[in-house]
Amino acid sequence: MENRIYLDHAATTPVDPRVLQKMLPYFTEKFGNPNSQHAFGRETVTAVDDARDTVAALIGAKPSEIYFTSGGTEADNWALRGAAHAFASRGKHLIVSAVEHPAMIATAKELQKEGFSVTFAEVDEYGAVDMAKLERAIRPDTTFVGVMTANNEVGTIQPVREIAALCKSRGVAFFTDAVQAAGALPLNVGDMGADMLSFSGHKFYGPKGVGVLYVRSGLRIGRIITGGHQERSMRGGTTNVAGVVGLAEALRLACAEQAQSAAYVSALRDRFIARVLKEIPYIKLNGHPQNRLPANANFSFRYVEGESLLFSLDLNGIAVSSGSACSSGSLEPSHVLLAMGLPEGLAHGSVRFTFGKDNTMAEVDRTVDVLKETVVKLRALSPLFPKELKNEVFPQEA
Ligand code: PLP
Repeated sequence: MENRIYLDHAATTPVDPRVLQKMLPYFTEKFGNPNSQHAFGRETVTAVDDARDTVAALIGAKPSEIYFTSGGTEADNWALRGAAHAFASRGKHLIVSAVEHPAMIATAKELQKEGFSVTFAEVDEYGAVDMAKLERAIRPDTTFVGVMTANNEVGTIQPVREIAALCKSRGVAFFTDAVQAAGALPLNVGDMGADMLSFSGHKFYGPKGVGVLYVRSGLRIGRIITGGHQERSMRGGTTNVAGVVGLAEALRLACAEQAQSAAYVSALRDRFIARVLKEIPYIKLNGHPQNRLPANANFSFRYVEGESLLFSLDLNGIAVSSGSACSSGSLEPSHVLLAMGLPEGLAHGSVRFTFGKDNTMAEVDRTVDVLKETVVKLRALSPLFPKELKNEVFPQEA
């Protein structure tokens, strides 16, 4: 379809052509296995070393603290599982926030089955971790706290520095999933105080299937992927050379252009939010009103199913994401919105719009126009929409 509008940049982004150019030789003429002892191998080992140096310098780490993975999911799994197992002799209590990505939540639930005790740290109405409750949740046998830098659904930015300071004072390892923050916010492991941090190439105009786990030197976590001696014997598997080259270049560009990109996408996002709040009744902006990722807008539309809205927008060429996930044939409302205390009805009616550097103001305006019409149509069809309510009046949800 022509004139499609892509507003799902939190799901993934296109590879920047400048990144692709850097990657291409590593699919063809520079195809050597970096573990090989000949010139073909040396060529790619240099590329991987350079990528590691670049990534380390960009986030304020040492190259020896950077591990390449197959993406954010593996990095998250590794941090949590690797720390849980390595520190099990000291204690078997783990804390992860209730709004973490499934890469963390599902892993924590698996660890529960293995005999670990897990606290899912509560969040406030905006999705930010409640510091007082987190502090109370830390026990003498707690070894790990995992709180994401910013949330993938509602965009809320967490008080990472405060959490890091708290964890340090209690001798607990602190991990932050920075998959959504990388490229969108300044990222420096020293400033943030993180012991471990993850991110993923495809969220900042780099390739899919490649990510990073930063592990502070001195912290010894276990392995989850056993095999060859790649990644200093911590993660077996032939390195995705083109992938790591692309990730490093994408991160370099994202950091160089971060302030400018954030200003651009937040202007799009702010206009979108302002128009939606003004022009569509019975809605709620989810997430923190200010302290949120520059690209993220998440709304609940009362009396509308988020999935129906997603499909109707898709028919109009507009790509968004809904808060409900289809699991075993039924629509489960988002665990993030439920943890924030949203009633199920509103959680079911949530849609995420995430803007990118190629979107335009004209696309924002077209999306609001289509959204307005679609919401009116879907409400007219909904048995739940009280007929005495008029679409023309604009009360916002509390
Ligand atoms: N963590 C967060 C916060 C995410 O948003 C995502 C992807 O959506 C992931 C982890 C998983 O990353 P990947 O797609 O690279 O496995």
